[in-house]
Amino acid sequence: MTGSAVGVSFRPGELEVRPDGSGNLLGSRCGDCGAHFFPVREACSGCLSSNLETVPFSTEGVLYTFSIVRQSTPAFEVPYALGYVDFPEGVRIMGQISGIELDEIKIGMPVVLSLEPFGEDDEGNTLTGYRFVPAEAHSD
Ligand SMILES: [Zn+2]
Repeated sequence: MTGSAVGVSFRPGELEVRPDGSGNLLGSRCGDCGAHFFPVREACSGCLSSNLETVPFSTEGVLYTFSIVRQSTPAFEVPYALGYVDFPEGVRIMGQISGIELDEIKIGMPVVLSLEPFGEDDEGNTLTGYRFVPAEAHSD
């Protein structure tokens, strides 16, 4: 058996990858007060309810802030941009910003979730991770 071409999520509880290659970040929605959380959690920090369900988040958000990482482990090519993205659900999710020159990244710019290969697991399946790319550069 060879690995799947589509890939498996590098964190199945946080990132849902569908057979067509699309996907969503997964989080929790509180059934009592409506708050959203990322990643999935057991109890609502707003109302302490445990009535939470796992939901997929929107794939579009707005860059809240970012920083340029110039030193990292050898597995990561530097420099790269690490940003916090605000999603419509009210969650702020950290991720690498790619698909744009570092000096063109602007706070407040719209970004979209982009699934990207992230290496392989022990069985040779392509692992899929996520980054955020500028919404304009994303042309589907
Ligand atoms: Zn709640």
